[in-house]
Parts: sequence; structure tokens; C-alpha cells
Amino acid sequence: MANTLKHTPVADIPAIHDKLHTTFKSGVTRPLEWRKQQLRQLARMFYENKDAIVHTLHLDLRKPDQEAALMEVLGIIKGAKFALDHIDEWVKPTKPTVEQSRAGWNCTIHTVPKGVICLISPWNFPWVLTFKPLAGAIAAGCAVVLKPSEVTAHSAALMAELVPKYLDPSAFVVINGAVPETTAMLNLRWDHIFYTGGVAVGRIIAAAAAKFVTPLTLELGGKSPVIIDEGIDLDLAARRILNGRAVNAGQLCVSPDYSIVLRSVFPSFLEALTRANDVLFPDGPFHPDAKWAKIVNERHADRLFNLLKGTKGKVYFGGKHQKLEDGVQIEPTVVVDVGLDDPLMEEEIFGPILPVLVAENLDEAISIINSLPKPLVIYPFTDNPMTKERILSETNSGNISFNDVTSILGFDELPFGGQGDSGYGSWHGHYTYKIFSQERVSIDVPASEETALEIRYRPYTKEKYEA
Ligand code: NAD
Repeated sequence: MANTLKHTPVADIPAIHDKLHTTFKSGVTRPLEWRKQQLRQLARMFYENKDAIVHTLHLDLRKPDQEAALMEVLGIIKGAKFALDHIDEWVKPTKPTVEQSRAGWNCTIHTVPKGVICLISPWNFPWVLTFKPLAGAIAAGCAVVLKPSEVTAHSAALMAELVPKYLDPSAFVVINGAVPETTAMLNLRWDHIFYTGGVAVGRIIAAAAAKFVTPLTLELGGKSPVIIDEGIDLDLAARRILNGRAVNAGQLCVSPDYSIVLRSVFPSFLEALTRANDVLFPDGPFHPDAKWAKIVNERHADRLFNLLKGTKGKVYFGGKHQKLEDGVQIEPTVVVDVGLDDPLMEEEIFGPILPVLVAENLDEAISIINSLPKPLVIYPFTDNPMTKERILSETNSGNISFNDVTSILGFDELPFGGQGDSGYGSWHGHYTYKIFSQERVSIDVPASEETALEIRYRPYTKEKYEA
């Protein structure tokens, strides 16, 4: 089914911006009851439209229904529910313990909504990366403009249809479009920008935010490495890694991008990968039952073909593709004999290709990771506590997940974010609420404190100085 996404006229964008600011200033987004009602409506939107949403994800990405329902629909319902369950405690002002001499000053930290949020999201998980941050912004009491990716056009079109039906249209608006529309948005002042996407566009967003000194969250990607140590269950590791690489055909920000394997276990790990591939795809990935996502568009498919053409490594298994009426699928592909100067090691691959590098020892594995920009996640597969400790203390990344891939994404209780080129600012659960809230402090200084404060008053005499 063809979808020509209806773009929001660029000329309408300033009026949308003004409307959202007027709504925010009117105070309608602040009452706790209103926030809770919008969060319930958000969850309702996903309950009632699950099948339609899963269908758009099939049209946009051939995303398997199970992945779509679990990660894109249930993920948002869970996020909205988590916010509903905790909002009463999040909004409560806190009274920190301060030094005794100021204990009577009523020192209070309030969390107040930042204002109008500009939320720009990517195509790989178009629903969850738009609406899960939105749950935090609603909980925080903000108004929001949502800018989904134009690349997943069926999803973006359905978002524009559903949002005004379920959420308060004076406070939440979808702007659809591509670079001209996003540029027009970025020429306006927002109270916070929340961007998820690649680092190149991240830099453009950061420059635009700097113009207005707008606070910014950048959720970017990068090359998340796996380390394979000696003495582990290689079959289990291979199954977890290959299955993780297969989610959305590798088009996932926390996808394991490449593996570094200690030389002593290199041949056995490759054999384990072959066994895992046979078990995960008994009839091959192109069999209709394999439920295998497509590469999102021709541009990205060409990018991946060029990587496979340009690599100096050797395809160990995979490498074939299949043309469909609506795109291209590339089978899970493992490439060996890859060096750091290989095209596969230049940028995040964002596809179902897994280069496997060899390291003589842990020192070399750590130095490979540290020679590249800081990744979103590091995935060490090891049972050795000393190795874990060394990787924790000698590398840097947004997150670290021992012995499993991708599951680090699934927590509402833990902060999730990048470091360096993989972004800055952490979200999920309470952390998303905090991103969209200002910590505003109030103090109230009683008249009875005057004697204690005497020292600050002019004239500055020798007696006061020496007191
Ligand atoms: P994309 O091309 O859809 O771009 C993201 C958004 O930026 C879209 O809304 C798009 O319209 C807008 N955009 C594109 N070009 C622009 C420009 N020149 N000026 C202003 N806006 C522009 O998505 P993408 O960047 O290909 O997304 C994939 C990347 O996102 C990968 O690197 C992935 O790792 C990363 N990602 C990170 C996370 C995370 O949580 N850290 C999650 C998902 C994806």
C-alpha cells in the first residue's frame, strides 16, 4: 500500500508553536488530574488501536507482529502505566536536609513543567520512541509537539490521525514532514528538545538548540560492541547475540554492532553462531514464517550493500538478499577477518551484519573499544568478576550489559542514555519525568533570623570581620 505522507504546511508551524505556548501558559496541562487523564488516554490509544499500529509497522518495516506488539505497543502502555503508578510521588515537593542554621527556612525543591517540548523521533521504532518520551512529558505537565520520522510514513500518518482523537489537541500536536518542516520547527524557541536519531542530525539539532540556549536531550546510536571471553557458554552467547542482532533486522539503537572474540575461543564461537543461526531460522530468514524485517528503504539497503561490497573481510555466513515488492531483506550475515580499518568499522551498521574481530587478550579488546567513539552499550560475555571489573573501570559507554544484548532497554526503573557520540541525557520512567521538569527551589527566610544574619549587613566593620 503506497503512502504519501501529508506534510504539515511549513507556514502553519509558527501558529502551532504559538498555540502550544498559549495552552501551556493557560495552565491547563498542570493539574495532576488532567495529566493522569491524558496518560490513561495514551494507554487507551494503544489498547484500542493495537492491530492498526502493528499493521503500519508491517507496511513500514515488515516488523514482525510479535516484535511490534511487544516493543512498540506494550512498551508504551507499560510506560504510561508506570507514570500513572508513580506520578503522585514524582510531583511531591521535597524538603532536603540543610545545615542546622537554615533548618527553619522552608527549603523546598518543586518539580515544575519546563513548558512546550519539541519531540523529534526516528524511523526504526517509530511508535515507542515518540510516545514513551511523551508519557514522561505528560506526567511532567508539558505541552508537546511530536515530529515522527517521515521515513516510516504509514506510522506517521496514523499518529496524526490518532493523537487528536485521544489526547487534548490544544496541548499535543503532530507535525509531519521531513527536513524543511523540522528546520522550520528548529527556527522557533522551545522549552526543551528531545531528539532520538543519528549523530549527524544530532549535531544539527544541537546547533539549532544553542541559538536559543534550549535544553536538549540527544538519544543517539553508535557501534555497541560485544566482547566474548573464554570459559562461557558459547551457544548461549551466540543465540542471544544473533537473536538480538536480528531484532528489526539490526535496525535498533542497542543492536550488537560488532563482536570482539578472544583468539582462543574464536573458532568455537563461529561454530556456535552457525548453530544459533540454524536454530533461529530453521527454514532460512527469507521463508515467510521467519518473520524477518525489511531494510527500511532503498537508501539504507544501498548503504548496507556498499558495506558488504567494500569490506576487506570474508562473509562467514549470510550475505544474500531478497527483493520484495516493497523493499529488500538482507539475511543475517557474519563477516570475519575484519580489521579496525574496515568500512564495516567506520560507522554504526544499523542492519543485520555482524563483523567478528579477534583480540589476543582483554587488553586488546578494551583498546579496540576505546579507539572508537563511546558506544551506547557494551556487551561483555564473561563470567569472570575481574574481567567485569576491568571493563567497567577501563571503558566508557552509556550503559553496560553483561551476558545479554538489548534487554537493557526494557527497564522503566533504570536510566537509559548515551555518552559522547551516543548522546547525552538519560530517560525512562522517573528519568523522563525529570528531563521535562525543572527543579525549582524555594526558600522562605523568617524575620526571626535577623540576628543570625547580622554579619552580612554593611557597614563591614572590623568587629564583624573578626566575629
Ligand atoms: P531519521 O533519518 O528518521 O531522523 C530522525 C529524525 O530527524 C526524523 O524525525 C527526521 O525527520 C529528522 N531529520 C532528519 N534529517 C534532518 C535534518 N537535516 N534536520 C533536521 N531534522 C532532520 O532517523 P535516523 O537518524 O536514521 O535514526 C537512526 C539512528 O537513531 C541510529 O543511529 C540509531 O542508533 C539512533 N537511535 C537511537 C536511539 C536511542 O535511544 N539512543 C533509539 C533509536 C534510534
